[in-house]
Amino acid sequence: MPPFKLKLHWQILIALVLAILVGLAVGREAGLFGVSFYAIFDFVGKLFLNALKMLIVPLIVSSIIVGVAGLGGSDNLGRLGGKTLGYYATTSLFAILVGLLMVNLIQPGVVNGDPKEIFGFHADVAALEETVGGKDSSDVVAVFLRMIPTNVVEAAAQGQMLGLIFFSLLYGFFISRISESYGRVQRGFFEGMFEIMMRVTDLIMRFAPLGVFALVAKTVADTGLEAFGPLALFFSTVVLALGIHFFVVLPLLLYFVGGVSPLRHYSAMGAALLTAFSTASSSATLPITMECVEKNAGVSNRTTSFVLPLGATVNMDGTALYECVAALFIAQAYGLELTFATQFLVVMLALLTSIGVAGIPAASLVAISIILAAIGLPLEGIGLILAVDRILDMLRTAVNVFSDSCGAVIIARSEGETNVLRPEPSAAHV
Ligand code: ASP
Repeated sequence: MPPFKLKLHWQILIALVLAILVGLAVGREAGLFGVSFYAIFDFVGKLFLNALKMLIVPLIVSSIIVGVAGLGGSDNLGRLGGKTLGYYATTSLFAILVGLLMVNLIQPGVVNGDPKEIFGFHADVAALEETVGGKDSSDVVAVFLRMIPTNVVEAAAQGQMLGLIFFSLLYGFFISRISESYGRVQRGFFEGMFEIMMRVTDLIMRFAPLGVFALVAKTVADTGLEAFGPLALFFSTVVLALGIHFFVVLPLLLYFVGGVSPLRHYSAMGAALLTAFSTASSSATLPITMECVEKNAGVSNRTTSFVLPLGATVNMDGTALYECVAALFIAQAYGLELTFATQFLVVMLALLTSIGVAGIPAASLVAISIILAAIGLPLEGIGLILAVDRILDMLRTAVNVFSDSCGAVIIARSEGETNVLRPEPSAAHV
């Protein structure tokens, strides 16, 4: 590596700052020779996202199979599974409680005068119905039903990660149960596939600065800055709550439960966090998250391959927090005082739906519509937060990904791994 070459996360950060400036400057219309810059950003951003998504199925399947086959026995699998789910449920609950506290303290929806006029509930109801229409709690149930897919190829084709994870867990488990000669071939095949997918991830990551630039410039060109006016307090409440979870709660867990330096972990995760921020999709970021956790944070493949794919699908701290703040904000904007019991219901629904929603952009909106319906508020309220949703989506996705990675580190440490976040990470190259 030439001495002047900047580390990848710095390259991505610079791309991100440039993208904000360029996005603001060019807006949606400006262009050259009849082609708008906006269309170019859109095209390049999509190419980058496609490349990331291309990796997901083979990467998840091979990494889980290799990881579980290497665990050697159901005791280990059960223990690791128990710890993983325990960590995920606990941190999501912490996140929701931070959100609940902040939204009750700051009360961003409580205003002097008629809230409806101030917030102008002028949502394009038709468009709204399209985004969230017809969603109710049966959608959450359906997500859990799909956990056991009827057709594993279909699950892969439709990106139903839970189904794919379930199948891969079984496959990996039984590799260690079949005859030695078959088992060796199977393991070798999937180990090779996993190595190859990591190499392809490496390659795609070289283009991350370009992809991030395009995605962020497009978002900024779309959103502009005007939308923030009346929603500034809501926006700040979410950012503050996400910040507390990201900079206080999770680092405290890393330090006290994992016994590692949070600062070192932030630096190890730089590229993944910035990619999560730019793509607003924890699924699309998964390949990069795995690479950072394994190569920079030094977590074994055995832990990474089990904890992270599951985390990208079910553990969404930022999403859970956001759902809670958004639902209560909308209730406040409608001038409602929610009782303790209703707030408790919101907390529980936020926890459950955050497990059920997919790691894709704007997935929270569907979950929020379920919560609103459950507490008897009109869906129109979602129109209120649409204007600022995208930027908050980017932030909460980064929190989602960071929490997954903290889970991998803490679980690895509890399994006695000694290589995790050592002072000089051996192979830090991203
Ligand atoms: N975009 C989020 C993610 O992928 C999900 C959401 O909160 O909308 O993690």
